[in-house]
Amino acid sequence: ASGGLSGIPLGRNTFMWHCMTVDEALSALHVEPALGLSEEEASARLAKFGHNELEDRGIKSPWAILWEQLTAVMVIILIIAAAISFLLGETTDGIAILAIVIVNAVLGLRQEYKAEKAMAALKQLAVPSVRVRRAGALVSVSARDLVPGDIVYLEAGSSIPADGRLIESANLQVEEAALTGESLPAEKSCDWTGAEATPLADRLNSVYMGTSVTYGRGALVVAETGMRTELGKIATMIQSVDRAPTPLQIRLDNLGKVLAVVALVLVGLIFVLGLWREGVGHLRELFLTSVSMAVAAVPEGLPAVVTIALALGAQRMLGRHALIRKLLAVEALGSVTVICSDKTGTLTENRMSVRSVVAGGAQFDLPIEKDAITRSPGVAIALSVGALCNDAQWSSTDKKSKVKAIGDPTETALCEGAAEAGFDKYHLESLMPRIAEAPFDSIRKRMATVHEVVTAGTPIWPGLPGESAPAFVTCVKGAVDGLLGVCDRILTESGVLAIGQEHIAETLRVNDSLSSQGMRVLGFAYAPLAERPSSMDAKDLESKLVFAGMMALNDPPRPEVRDAVALCKSAGIRPIMITGDHPLTAAHIGSELGLQAPGMGAVSGSELEAMSDVELRRAVREVTVFARVTPETKLDIVTALQNEGEIVAMTGDGVNDAPALRKANIGVAMGITGTDVSKGASDMILLDDNFATIVAAVAEGRTIYDNIRKFIRYLMTTNSAELWVMISAPFLGMPLPLLPLQILWMNLVTDGLPALALGVEPPERNVMRRPPVKSGDSLFAQGLGIHVFWVGLLMAVIALGAGWYYWLHEPAGSDGATRWQTMTFTILTLSQMAHVLAIRSGKDSLFTAGLWSNRPLMLAVIATILLQCALIYAPLLQGVFRMVPLSAWDMAVALVLSSAVFWAVEIEKAVLRRTANRGE
Ligand code: ATP
Repeated sequence: ASGGLSGIPLGRNTFMWHCMTVDEALSALHVEPALGLSEEEASARLAKFGHNELEDRGIKSPWAILWEQLTAVMVIILIIAAAISFLLGETTDGIAILAIVIVNAVLGLRQEYKAEKAMAALKQLAVPSVRVRRAGALVSVSARDLVPGDIVYLEAGSSIPADGRLIESANLQVEEAALTGESLPAEKSCDWTGAEATPLADRLNSVYMGTSVTYGRGALVVAETGMRTELGKIATMIQSVDRAPTPLQIRLDNLGKVLAVVALVLVGLIFVLGLWREGVGHLRELFLTSVSMAVAAVPEGLPAVVTIALALGAQRMLGRHALIRKLLAVEALGSVTVICSDKTGTLTENRMSVRSVVAGGAQFDLPIEKDAITRSPGVAIALSVGALCNDAQWSSTDKKSKVKAIGDPTETALCEGAAEAGFDKYHLESLMPRIAEAPFDSIRKRMATVHEVVTAGTPIWPGLPGESAPAFVTCVKGAVDGLLGVCDRILTESGVLAIGQEHIAETLRVNDSLSSQGMRVLGFAYAPLAERPSSMDAKDLESKLVFAGMMALNDPPRPEVRDAVALCKSAGIRPIMITGDHPLTAAHIGSELGLQAPGMGAVSGSELEAMSDVELRRAVREVTVFARVTPETKLDIVTALQNEGEIVAMTGDGVNDAPALRKANIGVAMGITGTDVSKGASDMILLDDNFATIVAAVAEGRTIYDNIRKFIRYLMTTNSAELWVMISAPFLGMPLPLLPLQILWMNLVTDGLPALALGVEPPERNVMRRPPVKSGDSLFAQGLGIHVFWVGLLMAVIALGAGWYYWLHEPAGSDGATRWQTMTFTILTLSQMAHVLAIRSGKDSLFTAGLWSNRPLMLAVIATILLQCALIYAPLLQGVFRMVPLSAWDMAVALVLSSAVFWAVEIEKAVLRRTANRGE
């Protein structure tokens, strides 16, 4: 049906889509709305127009990263130091410093590039998919693959993926703040055609990339994609992963500043001590030593290593179906104390099916026999209203294959349930096409449609006897409790009667009894109208209705959620259910999943609204299941929980959930059923909509936080040891024990590899069996500060003690290289390795954790030891690092002494384990 490429010129900015009628726009784009583009045509257009995406500087290039690495303050200081060394004729030192800087930059580059790529991959996944008609079928394609001429369907919560002309609209409202700055939604209509000069904000028949639907439904034909869209013209980024610094990074930054000052003071001290010991003759040496010490004391690399750990952590979370949108989430997940989850789809499978129909005082379980339908007009009407007041569509109209409906699971269930009983949605719609609608929203909890009865003379509902067809019919479905309030009549066995208290009581009784079995119950009502309704407002359409009946839908709990709930509880995290469904349904499912004890009830949204702040705060402390909650109340619940000091992860899927998602510490959107708007407001997206995935992400987040603390522990302890060594030596009457190059080597090379490998340490055994980390806890909480102090001191005592012994027995060699310095340096490096092995697990001994359970770390340790041997025994390096080849005996002494650090830390952990066990 499409006219080929020829008709669609590139650079069509002169086309004024908003001045065209629907037909003009469709023919300009050579597309038949009922068919859409053929797949071949779509790929031809894709080749011609390119992907529908905004140009983006994309990931940082390796060169950019290298440049950043080389322009870091520390590196610049080192480059200056190298230059000074060259000037002073110390060429070997100069070259060695540069070499160490380059090795360090390359290591950093590799890691950071890996992290960049991980972030880019996440960004790709954050691109929304859109519902498009292609070759006659409704398919879901990535927004990147849209081309001019595509027919795209929109609903409340969709983000608009490209610029286009509306070809269908029903109460469509679009929020266009990104383009027009206007935060109130604009009403759109496909029937409007405008003058050329109409400003963007007033083009009612066009929608633009980067805006989103807040209400209603519509369809558009794509006119412009990618950089040719209005948004492309102002070229702002929309899909990106936010990298705003996390609290941990901010704290590290501050820590860095404090340490920089401390370092300056210490370096000054060492300089003075050096002058005192060695006199002005060693000024050159002292200068380099001071620079190296400054490098040692300031954890310059830490924020970068943390970012890398977070980014790579985000990649691992993706493997567990959690897509991270903000790096912040990776870290915050570790300290979550409450998870507020929707019910439908997250705790349950979202595979609904109609189980029974209740009408005219009787209950019919599916499948319903034909004569039951003929006997009970209520059943037929409830089923028909369910099919008509319904936005689900058949995935194909091919009658032969068993087809499935697509759309909202509640609606697909109703569509399929009705079809099974002989009421096909498309057939009914051909008799009574829809002329207006009031879409579902989670506040009214119902939906209405108006139909014109075009086939005069046929009874509107098969089986409704003796009634002549009205000209129009309103169909309404929704939550029973609310729906009864807008009905003034009820369809009973004895015909339509004015609704009385006894009808309402009986209906509510049946509703409660079905709900308390965990069913979702919907009510169905209608109103025959003699003429077209004068107002199409929800309030007017949903009044004076005839209540026809109810249907109970079953949505089984997800089997894996029970265990995930138990895991949460053992991890000190409180899972809470917040649902729009009926309290009895919610309470039943809540008990089934172990969220609360059987028989416990749910607190409803209206009860919450009536509470004072204090009562609300008490309620959120105690209640586990909240039902019939509107999105605003959801926001109140998050706020109250946060006021109670909780760190809240909250799920949401609808347009109205966006404020609650933003307010929560971690907003979690649904990858499958979530609207684009909710995804845009979230920090993390569950690709499988599954509650268990949140819990898995929490475990991953805790592991990442643990590992970050581990490498902080590792790096800072080494630095503290070096400082101890350098500061104490003069008091023992010794010259400065470590040479500048040796200090740089330790900080930039032997520190780096094991620290990165600590970042991939597997989770601790007890990771989900201990309470969450208190957010806001100092980095040095839980003994980290003390550990850095005492283990650093221990390392220094061992290394300097041995050095002192060798120094007493064998003073300086001829060329300045001495055995005592080689010993001190080697023992420090080896104790670093002993230390890293001991702190791999914060609680278990290395032997419980398994020597090889972190292979990269083992390899890093072996590589570092080999490198150290190279410094000692390779003639060229020996010269540069002023090393004396150690005898086998010396080496054995160094190894035995260094291992003391390992045993000391293992004993520390054993003591901690014992006190913890006693505490339990
Ligand atoms: P959650 O996902 O938060 O657990 P929910 O998805 O069950 O909740 P809503 O979608 O807000 O919550 O639904 C609330 C109520 O609205 C339902 O219990 C049902 O009675 C009614 N309802 C749901 N979907 C529709 C629909 N498509 N048309 C009419 N009424 C509906």
